[in-house]
Amino acid sequence: MTDHVNDQLQPMPDDWRRALAVVAHPDDLEYGCAAAVASWTDGGREVAYLLATRGEAGIDTLDPATCGPLREREQRAGAAVVGVTEVEFLDHRDGVVEYGLGLRRDIAAAIRRHRPELVITLNHRDTWGSTVWNTPDHVAVGRATLDAAGDAGNRWIFPELVEQGLEPWDGVRWVAVAGSSSPTHAVDATPGMERAIRSLLEHRAYIEVLTDQDPEEYCRTFLTANAQAAAARFGGRPAVTFEVFSR
Ligand SMILES: [Zn+2]
Repeated sequence: MTDHVNDQLQPMPDDWRRALAVVAHPDDLEYGCAAAVASWTDGGREVAYLLATRGEAGIDTLDPATCGPLREREQRAGAAVVGVTEVEFLDHRDGVVEYGLGLRRDIAAAIRRHRPELVITLNHRDTWGSTVWNTPDHVAVGRATLDAAGDAGNRWIFPELVEQGLEPWDGVRWVAVAGSSSPTHAVDATPGMERAIRSLLEHRAYIEVLTDQDPEEYCRTFLTANAQAAAARFGGRPAVTFEVFSR
């Protein structure tokens, strides 16, 4: 018999003021996290977004030189809907992001600039559970973010960052991985759901290529079904889930 008590997801820690969300592409946060972000910014917390790429390889019919700026605009609009005004891009190349020292250094630098207690990233594992393969960009950025949370606190790793005036920040207490098939924590998705839907809907050019469905109906169906799927493990409440790594 399943142990329903131990099966339950824990509420996300709430004793923090600043979060930095680090993902590979425009729309990565809107496909899951945005409802949680809306609740956090409602509560007066600061959330900033850092994207490794501009998603310029995301639309088959658009040349990257046209697609990058378009997706950047959509990302900034999507962030604004959930109260996020700081959106930064690292300009790694979409589709071929490499896990390595360069990526760790870039993310560690951002962590030192923003000084977050909570870092968010997207599923760094090979699959989304079962046999649904993840993309190499998500794996690279997720892993590098988990590593960079430590790098940011050590002055002897990437000493060139200190020379640039970026003092170590050892204040990251949690790295929370969205989209994990092994979640440990959750946030009630209900208060932020309508804004999450509008936030995803801002990626209209991308979504219109992806599906023939009405874009709003597509966003609503996808996000509410995802949140509802987690409800059984969160006291019946639709939820955004995270696998939380404490530091
Ligand atoms: Zn992505």
